[in-house]
Amino acid sequence: MPKLPEQIIIPSAVDIHVHLREPGTNKAETIESGSLAALLRGFALICDMSNNPGRPTWTLRRTKDKHDRIWRTSYIPIATYAGSQPESNNERELPKMALLSIGLKSYLGETTGNDREYKASDFKDIWRLWNQLAPEKPIMIHRGSADLEEIISFTAAELGHRTHICHTNHPDEVEIVQRVKREGLPVTIGICPHHIFKTSHDVLTEGSFAQMQPPLAHQIDTEKLMYLLAMGEIDIVESEHAPHQG
Ligand SMILES: [Zn+2]
Repeated sequence: MPKLPEQIIIPSAVDIHVHLREPGTNKAETIESGSLAALLRGFALICDMSNNPGRPTWTLRRTKDKHDRIWRTSYIPIATYAGSQPESNNERELPKMALLSIGLKSYLGETTGNDREYKASDFKDIWRLWNQLAPEKPIMIHRGSADLEEIISFTAAELGHRTHICHTNHPDEVEIVQRVKREGLPVTIGICPHHIFKTSHDVLTEGSFAQMQPPLAHQIDTEKLMYLLAMGEIDIVESEHAPHQG
């Protein structure tokens, strides 16, 4: 009998943080091609962020449009996050958007679709409203330079709302989350593979291919992050899949 190659069978995976590029002005992929890529790598569910370039899903109409495209073309289930920025003025649409979404994504830091930094205080009205609309659906934080402890003290401590800190790139953030978890606050933190396996040094040789939001960390910090992940102090690995056009 021929010897079978060694194989490991694991459950299908869930990616809580992807940026599929449809709809929008970035044509690097479609929902169809992105979901097929995920399926072929063993993902049974992916969760799509709201800041589509040129067409952020910050309105009910766009949210429905995205869901319609997912329904028609995706190979796997795709969940979506609602978006609400201080300038998007979508409070009246948010109740229905909340029903269609698995969480709220808040961009306090500069990134695709958001060209400025915000303070935690800029988002308090939005978080308070989300807490009333969807108390069981997490607030996902892209924090930028905003103060992490100030964010947590409002969303998790004052509102008691489940809060997830996306894509950490520094051990100090993990230590803050460790501490507030010990106090019983509902906070989790995630990390992306590139913040463990690549370092800020790679920018010298790879240029814009190694430029990330948040940026790659110094080697000593990537080693600490790897250790914290191995010790179970980081809750989840999220891909931050976000193809850019060449
Ligand atoms: Zn992201």
